[in-house]
Amino acid sequence: MIGALEELQKQAEAEINRAKTEEEILAIKTKYLGRKGLLTHLLRNIKELSPDERPGFGKRSNEVKEALSEQIENSIKEKASQKKSKALICEKIDVTLPGRGVKHGRVHPVVQVLEEICRIFMKLGFSTVEGPEIELDYYNFEALNIPKNHPARDMQDTFYIEENIVLRTHTSPVQVRIMEKHRPPVRILSPGRVYRPDSDITHTPMFHQIEGLLVDRGVTFGDLKGALTTFIKQFFGDATALRFRPSFFPFTEPSAEVDIQCVMCHGAGCRVCGHSGWLEILGAGMVDPEVFKNVGYDAEEFTGFAFGLGLERIAMLKYGITDIRLFFENDWRFLEQF
Ligand SMILES: [Zn+2]
Repeated sequence: MIGALEELQKQAEAEINRAKTEEEILAIKTKYLGRKGLLTHLLRNIKELSPDERPGFGKRSNEVKEALSEQIENSIKEKASQKKSKALICEKIDVTLPGRGVKHGRVHPVVQVLEEICRIFMKLGFSTVEGPEIELDYYNFEALNIPKNHPARDMQDTFYIEENIVLRTHTSPVQVRIMEKHRPPVRILSPGRVYRPDSDITHTPMFHQIEGLLVDRGVTFGDLKGALTTFIKQFFGDATALRFRPSFFPFTEPSAEVDIQCVMCHGAGCRVCGHSGWLEILGAGMVDPEVFKNVGYDAEEFTGFAFGLGLERIAMLKYGITDIRLFFENDWRFLEQF
């Protein structure tokens, strides 16, 4: 039986040495030292030995049991520490790496310009309204005194959705929609997207306009000049020179275009102003009596003025931007400058 004991010890030690994981060692512990284990089983047979053989066998088997227990415990510790070092390497976090910054959004330059224009006109008593971008031909053209086949339609290339439905080419149709629903006095600003099939460094198929309309009793061209002069001085600076030039729009009579002294060359003449020293920034005029007739206003009783300007053009002049397409490319390097 001593021989069987020695054999069992050798076998157990070989298995301990082969074991790779803590789980395997625990299984070996159960296999040999557990209550139904091989060594325990062998010890139960001690009664089959003669009385003088028993003490020797008992002593030896205790030695084997202790030796195996110790080897098993050591192996468990070793496996646990291997597992920990492996985890430390795999799950290592380098706290010295620089963090990834969160980029803050900015208000788009076109929106900044829009907000500033609205702030100035709000102080003059104007409030902001909006209208549809998909518009009936009637509101975009006819009600603004631009009948079908009128040569003025050539001034504005148009995206047609159906024969009588267009993407609005200007924000002026909002004037008509507001006047149809409200009696004077009317003081509105209508900003928004407009569409024309044009694309180059100063045109994009979609751009933004803002339209203003004031209607009341006794409104004169002097009021128009006063309101627009106030706006331009506040927006571009008190020292900005401006001029009103006669012009033509189908929905205003008389009509004017407003120029400011070139912001790039201050009047000396440069490429931006076509060497004239002046930059056109908006169109305006007294509301044509034909437009009043279309919305049921009495042109004898009421007069009014309207004006419109392109927000991208204003933003280009204010910030010295030479290509309008930059506004819509969503290039962070461009946008973060504002
Ligand atoms: Zn210039």
